[in-house]
Amino acid sequence: MPVRFEVVEKDIAGRIGRLKIDGRVLTTPALLPVINPHLPLVSPAEMKGMGIRGIITNAYILHRSAQFRERVLREGLHSLFDFDGVIMTDSGAYQQSVYGDIEITNAEIVNFQMAIGSDIIVPLDIPTPPSASREKAENELSETMRRLSEALALVGDTRCAGPVQGGIYTDLRERAGREVAEMGFCFCPIGAVVPLMEQYRYQELVSLVHAARRGLSPSSCVHLFGAGHPSMFALAVAMGCDIFDSAAYALYAREGRYLTPHGTYMLGDLLELPCTCPVCSSHQAREIAESDDRDRLLALHNLRVTVAEIIRIREAIREGTLWELVDERARVHPRLLQGYRQLLTISDELEKYDRISKRRFFYRGEESCRRSEVIWYHRHLERLSLGREAHIYIGCRIEEREGDVLLFKPPFGPYPRELAETFPIGQSELPAWDEAMVRSGCTGIMELAASHPETEITIHCSQEWYGLVKGILAGMEVLCGQVPD
Ligand SMILES: [Zn+2]
Repeated sequence: MPVRFEVVEKDIAGRIGRLKIDGRVLTTPALLPVINPHLPLVSPAEMKGMGIRGIITNAYILHRSAQFRERVLREGLHSLFDFDGVIMTDSGAYQQSVYGDIEITNAEIVNFQMAIGSDIIVPLDIPTPPSASREKAENELSETMRRLSEALALVGDTRCAGPVQGGIYTDLRERAGREVAEMGFCFCPIGAVVPLMEQYRYQELVSLVHAARRGLSPSSCVHLFGAGHPSMFALAVAMGCDIFDSAAYALYAREGRYLTPHGTYMLGDLLELPCTCPVCSSHQAREIAESDDRDRLLALHNLRVTVAEIIRIREAIREGTLWELVDERARVHPRLLQGYRQLLTISDELEKYDRISKRRFFYRGEESCRRSEVIWYHRHLERLSLGREAHIYIGCRIEEREGDVLLFKPPFGPYPRELAETFPIGQSELPAWDEAMVRSGCTGIMELAASHPETEITIHCSQEWYGLVKGILAGMEVLCGQVPD
């Protein structure tokens, strides 16, 4: 198969993977900058110098171009762009959604992409906008699936991408994902989500991406089509997205906007530049703003910070600290925080993808109580072997008694001494206890009690937390331990 995808490491539903296309290899998560052949602000050679191994361009624009059409057919894409990495082509589906009907058929644009030597070929799918009715979304999805089938027959292998459509309807997205996986597509873009991102509708985005992922095979390489702002990459990777394409570095530059992972600034508002990339360390903010080369200088900076964020995410996956990066980035905008909280509502499903041991667990506030590691810990409490009698000590001194002795660490809950050094108990760092984490720990006690009905459990709790714990664990024996730990 010309296109293969291997998962190397995991964190939450995010992964580091290797996308192999003929002889070319792309480490994911990866960013494919969009290149407009007519207006390249940053050249493919400069991109290569930044460590970029894949780009995306629009086959429909090349097909219509008097300047490039014959040349790209003669020389091929890699020669045209003088780029030996992965080159993906888009079909014009986006232009179709913005400008209405375009004068090309699915078969024509697929054949053209093959003729110019594209590494990843996208059929002319129909990007159903979020505002579309269910009936329209269903009809367009049927037509998209027909075109996918036609494109796959023409290409004949996994270089053909299988976009997942379905509008705003999660059941349609899940069905589309399942059908795309059953048809044998390996590279699967999730399409028509740009309007959601432009309107900061991250909560719905999380639901749609999750639905599509549930349908797709875990071995599919997932491309979030049109996601270009670095502040949302960590969230998208945590949901299982592997590839991003970005026109944002150039579009934002043309509007005088300066990207950072913490948000976007208008260049004119900045006195100093909060970055040490080659452009920012050799120019003052005002120099760039007044330069004839402003767009290009800004695009170079924007692309560098975008690439740096992808590298930071890959490191976070290797370390097992992706939740912490998602949490940090989510504070950039309240709507992004809403998207993060939506992701936490499906932690029990994410837990199945997540790995068991990580480098650390830093508690960052009440959202941390719903992280997949906490869900995992609660679920596995049923495996603890307990006798007839057990005592749990919450923040008070342990007295040796008959039966099993368990300690308590929020937000996880009860643990036996032998787990004190293992993940997550041993590697979790907490500030002073707060109500949210103690509540979460009590959920652990309830799970333990439910899975050990034969064990008589007594809870000894410090005076500080006695009222809260007694209220949560009504019906269990909770004693006030006078001596703080
Ligand atoms: Zn910079």
